[in-house]
Amino acid sequence: MNGGAVESVHRVDLVVVGGGPAGLSAAARAAEGGLTVVLIEENHQTGGKLRGQLHQENDGEWWIGWTLANDLLARVERAGVRILTDTVAWAIEPGWVVRATSSRGGDAAEIHTRTVLIATGAVEKPMPVEGWTLPGVFTIGGAQILTNTHRVRPGARSVVVGVDPLSLTIARAMKLGGVDVDSIVLPPAQVPDSDPQATLKRLGGLSKLAPYFYMRLGGALMAVPGLAAIAARVLPRSLPLWGIPLRLTTRLVRVVGDDRVTGAEVETVRANGAAVPGSRRVIRTDSVCLSNGLVPLSDLSASLGLEFVTSDSVGAKVPVHSATGATALPGLFLAGNTVGVESAKVSLKQGEIVAGEILATLGNHPFKTRETELGELRQLRADSEFTFEPAIQQGHDEIAALFTQRQEAPLP
Ligand SMILES: Cc1cc2nc3c(=O)[nH]c(=O)nc-3n(C[C@H](O)[C@H](O)[C@H](O)COP(=O)(O)OP(=O)(O)OC[C@H]3O[C@@H](n4cnc5c(N)ncnc54)[C@H](O)[C@@H]3O)c2cc1C
Repeated sequence: MNGGAVESVHRVDLVVVGGGPAGLSAAARAAEGGLTVVLIEENHQTGGKLRGQLHQENDGEWWIGWTLANDLLARVERAGVRILTDTVAWAIEPGWVVRATSSRGGDAAEIHTRTVLIATGAVEKPMPVEGWTLPGVFTIGGAQILTNTHRVRPGARSVVVGVDPLSLTIARAMKLGGVDVDSIVLPPAQVPDSDPQATLKRLGGLSKLAPYFYMRLGGALMAVPGLAAIAARVLPRSLPLWGIPLRLTTRLVRVVGDDRVTGAEVETVRANGAAVPGSRRVIRTDSVCLSNGLVPLSDLSASLGLEFVTSDSVGAKVPVHSATGATALPGLFLAGNTVGVESAKVSLKQGEIVAGEILATLGNHPFKTRETELGELRQLRADSEFTFEPAIQQGHDEIAALFTQRQEAPLP
């Protein structure tokens, strides 16, 4: 069933909050393993961010999130998972009770369950800049949904602001969708670490996405200490990326327009981010897409009082959890981008693994393949073409070690 009616379900084995790739794969495996499972998704459709994804892998194959999300949904339905779409889980109480409400208003549900999986994903960080509330300004994720999910162009012409995996791949998808993408430029000065030198350093992590061998090699070299500083000084004004100029010495100053976007004012910057005097100019455009990175959505975990840790390697503050998604609260599990922003392939695997752990916890099946699957997860991270934080495996290892340490600590 994939329907919106919110109703109270008396007792199940597992409630999955969030119907993205992590939640869907976990729900499917858990139900295939014999558990009764309810999946709650606040949107009208399951699939999460996967639905909007469209990019070409380095082996030439296209990653078409829409199709993958439909296949996953079919698997979940076959497994007998009860799916509540248009439903927001707004509270989780130990014991466990999940409280949910129809996101269209009205009905409320109280679901009693033996275990809960939080798989609520990540959200975009805003990029406040003069003019950012004008019609025609989008977050890059909004532009992704319009272009790839709804087949609507965000504008006839666009300037993409921010250099990261999302901005690069979505700029490409927009171009394929018929948008005249003028350029990809740096964020405004107030965004931390957005000068050419810092951006070049980060390009090391993005280089697997780059279409040309010399850019991949260049990106790998950027990881060498000191090289980014030298490269930033001799940087060409524009690098071609799938036919879109990537301008690493141009940054946004403000979005221009009275009642809607008519342009993007930009300026030229030196390697250290200092503006070149007299370099301001306006690029005529009817849309501007802002990309300022992602942050795990962890409000439900926080409300349960879980211990959080700030990890530079994961690039976020996330709850302490085991390698397989267990938390200090027995019966509560985490998976996917809620514990660190990664690619959909990684989220799918995390979902499978946490379901293995839940099945073992409830005594349904021993998790004999735990180590093998954790090894596969490592390999997926190492091979991922879509890397937000290059050292994320190290971060997860450290968090898992902290979890073990906390579990082994004598009670006060
Ligand atoms: C804007 C954006 C674009 C991205 N693009 C790409 C890309 O092109 N390629 C790539 O590999 N990765 C991309 N990512 C990373 C992406 O998040 C992962 O690929 C993957 O989708 C994460 O899976 P997930 O299941 O953890 O979370 P999500 O896919 O984010 O799914 C979480 C789901 O939980 C639901 N939810 C949240 N809170 C609640 C609640 N309280 N109650 C009910 N439901 C709730 C959400 O509606 C959502 O459907 C993108 C991320 C973002 C934010």
